[in-house]
Amino acid sequence: SFEVLVIGGGPAGSAAAIYAARKGISTAIAAERFGGQVADTMGIENLISVPYTEGPKLVSAMEQHVKEYDVDIMNMQRAEKLIPAAKTGGLHEVRLANGATLKSRTVVLSTGARWRQLGVPGEEEYRNKGVAYCPHCDGPLFKGKRVAVIGGGNSGVEAAIDLAGIVGHVTLIEFGAEMRADDVLQKKLRSLANVKIVTSAQTTEIVGENGKVSGLNYTDRNTGEEHHVELEGVFVQIGLVPNTEWLKGDIELSQHGEVIVNDRNETSIPGVFAAGDATTVPYKQIVISMGEGSKAALSAFDFLIRNSVE
Ligand code: FAD
Repeated sequence: SFEVLVIGGGPAGSAAAIYAARKGISTAIAAERFGGQVADTMGIENLISVPYTEGPKLVSAMEQHVKEYDVDIMNMQRAEKLIPAAKTGGLHEVRLANGATLKSRTVVLSTGARWRQLGVPGEEEYRNKGVAYCPHCDGPLFKGKRVAVIGGGNSGVEAAIDLAGIVGHVTLIEFGAEMRADDVLQKKLRSLANVKIVTSAQTTEIVGENGKVSGLNYTDRNTGEEHHVELEGVFVQIGLVPNTEWLKGDIELSQHGEVIVNDRNETSIPGVFAAGDATTVPYKQIVISMGEGSKAALSAFDFLIRNSVE
């Protein structure tokens, strides 16, 4: 058995493993795919002290850093079930898809999240070539250009307000008859001169030229009319889905499926901690996940010294 078992090998999981191993306690990581979302990222410009890096480069640096320590890395292992310890300080079990069961005194859940995709032609083809999901990450790449934000919920409207200050023009596209964002955000958005809001619009295709996004097609759901918008970027903001389906029923989740954590990364189960995009912590970013993973490991260590042997 382990003292700290980290599930997930993204920035949160890597940081948790390093912080745990540096305490000299037995540490393991089980991850479906080491690197997580970072492996799918092109340029990264907001990892403080690293002005520019690329996803695969950062993944290999994270892996090397973890390997500096005595961490048991189990890559390509998907966790399927968490069986909490019968009593505080006892062993938790995590069942893997391959049939094995791992036991540990503490667990750090850091299984991250995934952006909900539109599922229209062009989205996959032009991903990172004009199709983006994270305004904090990629907004500055579209300075002075024309973009669309798809989705009129809080994240879409926040993204549109944020982008309007950087890019030349923003078209916000909402599927429903009305945006769903909080009134105060909608009001702010409507006050901006370089924003156009289109409702009852179903995006049907993202089109490109010379390997880059050049426009977007949508259908007016009231009239059935087809429309084309010329632009350079499309931000898809229709939801971030936490990878926590496997935890449902065993741990407290928010209405969005995020693992509920407090400011010490404690969950509803004593000895089980969580960090990063899979949790209720706001602002899903690499540097934040790294900080949260570090905090979760320190909390796990604190739990271990207070609940040594049964
Ligand atoms: P993740 O990175 O999602 O890692 C989750 C880990 O858990 C993975 O190893 C995964 O395989 C594993 N996992 C999932 N389910 C299971 C399971 N059941 N069993 C075992 N393992 C499992 N942020 C920035 O700060 N700057 C950027 O420039 C930036 N650009 C981005 C660009 C793109 C295209 C995307 C998608 C995201 C970007 N982000 C960026 C966001 C950033 O990648 C995330 O905030 C960060 O990766 C979250 O880290 P995490 O460790 O919580 O989760």
